[in-house]
Amino acid sequence: MTQANSSLETTLKNYINGQWYASAGEPLEVINPATAQVLAQVPLSTAAELNQAAEAAAAAFQTWRRTPATQRIQYLFRLKTLMEEQFEPIAQTITQECGKTLDESRGELRRAIENVEVACGIPMMMQGSNFEDIASGIDEFMIRQPLGVAAVIAPFNFPSMIPFWFLPYALACGNTYIVKPSERVPLTMQKIFALIDQIDLPKGVINLVNGDKQIVDAILDHPAIRAISFVGSTPVARYLYSRAAANGKRVQCQGGAKNPVIILPDADIDMTTRITADSAFGCAGQRCLAASLAIMVGEARHTYTEAIAEAAVSRRVGNGLEASVQMGPVITAQSRQRIESLIQLGIDEGATPLVDGRSPEIAGYEQGHFVRPTILQNVDPASEIVKTEIFGPVLSLIHLDSIDAAIALVNSGQYGNMACLFTNSGAAARKFRYEAEAGNIGINIGVAAPMAFFPFSGWKDSFFGDLHGQGQHAVEFFTQTKVVVERWSQKDWSRQF
Ligand code: NAD
Repeated sequence: MTQANSSLETTLKNYINGQWYASAGEPLEVINPATAQVLAQVPLSTAAELNQAAEAAAAAFQTWRRTPATQRIQYLFRLKTLMEEQFEPIAQTITQECGKTLDESRGELRRAIENVEVACGIPMMMQGSNFEDIASGIDEFMIRQPLGVAAVIAPFNFPSMIPFWFLPYALACGNTYIVKPSERVPLTMQKIFALIDQIDLPKGVINLVNGDKQIVDAILDHPAIRAISFVGSTPVARYLYSRAAANGKRVQCQGGAKNPVIILPDADIDMTTRITADSAFGCAGQRCLAASLAIMVGEARHTYTEAIAEAAVSRRVGNGLEASVQMGPVITAQSRQRIESLIQLGIDEGATPLVDGRSPEIAGYEQGHFVRPTILQNVDPASEIVKTEIFGPVLSLIHLDSIDAAIALVNSGQYGNMACLFTNSGAAARKFRYEAEAGNIGINIGVAAPMAFFPFSGWKDSFFGDLHGQGQHAVEFFTQTKVVVERWSQKDWSRQF
């Protein structure tokens, strides 16, 4: 075991080839968004440091790929145990650097651990297939082999969960790995790597390099890195996808979102209100599965509008470390500014602010980056605010006359991360499930997040690639298939034995 950072008020380190290293890169402040206090300095590492990590991972691959899968997963069992033991301190770190409530941090960490659990099934999941006698005396096999060095580039909004959509599968399949966390929330991975350091993986199997665009570009161009997983905004996803593909790499890029929920007149309005309020305002709207548009069909408008306004006004906003708080701050002062200017854009386009959460006073947290829940009503379906990802606690209300018009509006969007329907009608639910152009569908669900054993299935501009993160898709992404066609001479062989 080597020494990581003992306190949060320090400059973070990289973890390369089984050792903690101070980086030569410029430091950047990591800010607690609830208090605006500096938590630590994160280094913006250099391309030379990325190269060091990639070379260590490439060297480690030669032995790691030959380590039987049943042994590889023993490290993951140990990691799960340590993550369970350190569950509360890690959840607190997530809240400190990311701003979400402690319960939300616990929820995402649980999802991270579930991916470790699923990846422990790799001896079953990584199996190939075979067929005897494809021709007389000839057999054919398909086997899965690891790729080599792979890397993940993560966003700020789920500092523990998102790297774990990929990391446990990459390792279990026999790849070696590099993690590049978001430079805005690097503390969580620092903590998790302190646990990884204790499970005694062979040196170089997993590496942590902190940084920003410079490190991302170094990953995209490094010849030893065979596969890249990215989660973040759509413009960056598109950039990564094309540059990584041009360099011949396997790549999966999850992008931004603008998630609609349709509310039919027969929906249970109490349940719908509670669930959609959690979806729109949970994690301060900074979830890629946050509801952003509520499309009320027919009479649903009368019951839902009043109920969701009440839910928005009564939501308790503050420091996520405090037990009574239901919504924390947004990530940075710039995010807050961007969200507030998008609310203004909606108003300029003709929407009415039913609940206006701009410039709130949060007692004791005057420096924090807070926006209270906001609801715009009478939003024109053709307006910019309907198309633009806000990534903040803002819900736009639209009124339409029919489910067909509502589904047409859902399908007109650029993104396809999630779409949800609230109804008591099985026929309406089936129609919606069949026709809605989104990869994650909720029926009376507000955050349709797939469990670890299902793929996280964004569509359209929410995803570039074909194989998604999590479960069997991840196993396919982190392996290459090899097909063997085999024949043995039958001539006189039995006389030799
Ligand atoms: P981001 O795109 O700004 O950053 C993501 C990562 O890319 C970070 O590690 C960052 O260092 C790096 N990066 C940023 N700009 C870059 C550039 N120009 N060139 C190369 N690398 C760059 O995203 P974010 O603000 O951290 O996260 C929020 C976004 O992520 C939202 O759009 C949200 O919808 C999306 N998101 C999507 C999913 C999904 O599953 N589809 C999940 C979570 C978040």
